[in-house]
Amino acid sequence: SEEPPYKKKKLNSQHSHSHASQNGFVNNYKLQQERRRLPIFPAKHKLTQQIRSLDTAIVIGETGSGKTTQIPQFLHEAGVHRGSIIAVTQPRRVAAITVSQRVAQESGTLLGHLVGYSVRFEDVTSESTKIKYMTDGMLLRESTLDPLMKRYSIIVLDEAHERTIHTDVLFGVVKKAQRDRKKKGLKPLKIIVMSATMDVDHFSNYFNKAPVLYLEGRQYPVQVFYSTTTQSDYVMAAVVTLFQLHRDHPPNQDVLIFMTGQEEIESTVRCIRDISKDMVGEGPPLVVCPLYAALPSHLQLKVFNKTPEGSRKVIVATNIAETSVTIHGIKFVIDTGVVKAKLYNPNSGLDLLKVVRISKAQALQRTGRAGRESSGTCYRIYTEEEFDSFKKNTVPEILRCNLSSVVLQLLALGISDIVNFDFMDKPSIESLIGAVHQLHSLGAVTKEDCIKLTPLGKQMVSFPLDPRLSKTVLIAKDNHCLEEILSIVSMLSVDSVMFTPQSKREEALETRKKFISSDGDHVTYLNIYRAFKSVRGNTEWCHENFINLRNMRLALECSQEMSGFGFFMNAAELQKEGEFISLSSRKPVNIHPSSSLFMCKPAYVIYNELIQTTKCYMRDLSVVDPEWLYEAAPHYFRKKKPKPG
Ligand code: ADP
Ligand code: MG
Repeated sequence: SEEPPYKKKKLNSQHSHSHASQNGFVNNYKLQQERRRLPIFPAKHKLTQQIRSLDTAIVIGETGSGKTTQIPQFLHEAGVHRGSIIAVTQPRRVAAITVSQRVAQESGTLLGHLVGYSVRFEDVTSESTKIKYMTDGMLLRESTLDPLMKRYSIIVLDEAHERTIHTDVLFGVVKKAQRDRKKKGLKPLKIIVMSATMDVDHFSNYFNKAPVLYLEGRQYPVQVFYSTTTQSDYVMAAVVTLFQLHRDHPPNQDVLIFMTGQEEIESTVRCIRDISKDMVGEGPPLVVCPLYAALPSHLQLKVFNKTPEGSRKVIVATNIAETSVTIHGIKFVIDTGVVKAKLYNPNSGLDLLKVVRISKAQALQRTGRAGRESSGTCYRIYTEEEFDSFKKNTVPEILRCNLSSVVLQLLALGISDIVNFDFMDKPSIESLIGAVHQLHSLGAVTKEDCIKLTPLGKQMVSFPLDPRLSKTVLIAKDNHCLEEILSIVSMLSVDSVMFTPQSKREEALETRKKFISSDGDHVTYLNIYRAFKSVRGNTEWCHENFINLRNMRLALECSQEMSGFGFFMNAAELQKEGEFISLSSRKPVNIHPSSSLFMCKPAYVIYNELIQTTKCYMRDLSVVDPEWLYEAAPHYFRKKKPKPG
């Protein structure tokens, strides 16, 4: 029961890097040479000085110029962080992980020491971490525990142009923290907004006319070809284009293909591999790598491997390769012109993922990937007229998604006047009201004049899930079906676990019939989950039953990690002697010095994690009313009988 809800990875040799090897010195020398060759390097001194003097800065530079990996290191080396932590947000967990690995390597330290990362369900940081890459969602969640974000002296909001819902809310939250810290005479908070491309005036105006620092880019010309006719099957068209160029061009000129999601990418990868098997001898061998967020990280890292001499690497990626990760050696880009986007359906109140056209800004970014190291070529699987009809910029997610989770977070931050919150682009009043209604129907907020979180709502904030799912998990405990619900919610949190190849469709459906429940899909998921567990994740079994092994493993992990999420179990009580004891283990625990409650003695607290160093410390705490604990889990807590007198 003392398991922290976030999996704290052990900082062991698994994460060790070049400096631990015999050739460490040589490797690090090579890395330092590479750093020096980055376009950002000549600007190092000036940039550091400018940022030092500014409260808020906007930094714009081409993808690959070195913003994400170098700027935090420059600021750290120059002491601009004044000993506190530099947080760098990324919209995607993959980017947070790969970038932190790279930066740890460059700085010759073990990942999780000077440089670490924190993403949902995984925290690879320690007390010595000063450069912390994290998802925007994680920083937002942290802010609900500490709205002033006191542990950070610099917050870098990276990939700002992506306008994810979390980054958009963070804009307002971080701006407010900066202002409030100033008002209270606390240490200042520096904000850096970074991007490869953005609507500069809009951003600068929002951040009190913050200056924009432009980095010199290095971009070679890219020739663009359009389709002559509209393509009904962009996947096939992309594959045909690939093999045409493959035949005509020498090896070691790599190809990047943009697709929309996991299933499409996996089937494209299989298709390319199958065709290339029949083509042995025609053109260089192909190394085909998929790249999407749900891909296990060791496979993601494959795209960064050097292409073997005499062959050609083909990367089939989602828009993750647009700006967040840089891949070397790309000479050709095949752009299908589509992306999977979240859209809100006000009728059902649900978000749905839909394949939509990219914006012109995205098309330009994709094209740019072909001209990083020399001139390149981009094949657009759409006509020039179609391109002309694309929107100029991507519509911010906050204007097209269900806002209940955002409203919940804002309320947890103590911001009850949601309508007047300082959004960069304000969502419609209807969608905000819709979100409040939904939270009310879930029992998360009161319906008085002033909207407030109920105790249930407060608990829901601590779950990294959609509020509907959080509520489901919370009430499952009372209904004695927590294990079942966690299994189902995990299955809903990953991409499809059913694998149905076109050629064996009938067979796949027939084989999986045994899992189907007359109660519907949720129980069917549960049946699959249990069957998978009972064979201990056997690969052969997955193959025979047309189940996607990778997604099943993810679901299993997800469930195991979430089962640690009963935050009410992470509660501690102050004793007469002035010490805290954990309510679950009855062992002594202490408030971590990094906590804003360090000098306080609240009667009851809940915490996100326990870390054992010289003592056992609780980290990320909130003061709670014991009533809430009782309400959250009456089975778990007994009410103390008041002592006479
Ligand atoms: P930006 O944020 O400006 O797009 P980055 O700081 O992400 O640029 O990347 C700068 C350079 O660092 C890349 O061009 C690449 O050479 C190198 N790099 C970044 N991440 C990795 C990685 N995971 N593996 C190898 N090289 C990397
Ligand atoms: Mg970057």
